[in-house]
Amino acid sequence: MTWRIIPLELGFLCVPARILVWETNSGPRAGDDDKTQVPLIGWALVNDRTGETVLVDAGGGDDAQYGSNHHNPLTVKPEHRLASALKNRDLELEAVRTVILTHLHWDHALGALQIPKAEIIVQKTELQYAVAPDDAFRKMYELDIPHQIPYFFKFFSQIRTVAGDAALAPGIRLLHLPGHSAGNQGVMVDTKSGVFIIPGDLINIRRNWSENLPPGIHCDLSACYASMEKLRKIASAGGATVLYSHDLASFALCAKQ
Ligand SMILES: [Zn+2]
Ligand SMILES: [Zn+2]
Repeated sequence: MTWRIIPLELGFLCVPARILVWETNSGPRAGDDDKTQVPLIGWALVNDRTGETVLVDAGGGDDAQYGSNHHNPLTVKPEHRLASALKNRDLELEAVRTVILTHLHWDHALGALQIPKAEIIVQKTELQYAVAPDDAFRKMYELDIPHQIPYFFKFFSQIRTVAGDAALAPGIRLLHLPGHSAGNQGVMVDTKSGVFIIPGDLINIRRNWSENLPPGIHCDLSACYASMEKLRKIASAGGATVLYSHDLASFALCAKQ
């Protein structure tokens, strides 16, 4: 069973460059204060035979003001809204019955609130960690906003957890790739042009992959290296193309399908 991967721009986030790539040189790191605009990417997987749509990651929601107030400056143009981004590719939000979240950080998961009928697939370790993370990560799961129930509790009844690597559907496989967050997962997709892997924020931009550099944000650096090693073995064995979670270069890679 093969699928077509359609990457969707769901907004742009202005972040310090150092959170994308971890550099180990002593002294000031290059780009310490450089800000960069990164895309929030959702990935629609469309079944070649049935037309079924599975969504991987849902972005940070359509409310740019909210995202900017609580996180980093967020831009969401009308065409970046989840429903519009899907519609522009002739896909319907209401038709999405399965959402795979690579992890529960707000910029990937908050948008899932817009799909109340979908089943949401998350690694068990990610859900457990999100409830009581290390302090530095509380903000990324919105545990720091007074008197507000975190978004992932709002869609809690839709969640189905998986533990470790798993086949989700014919042609779609989940890969446990922890390190950036406790239960980050990748999604391995069979397409007519070979296998593609959506790696979550283990691989933010091309440099993480080409220079073997872990993401600047990580809850476990050793796990990042182990996950990158695992990803490299799987990708080379299957001749897979690895995509990048916050890099527009992914759009060009997907165009090769
Ligand atoms: Zn993340
Ligand atoms: Zn992210």
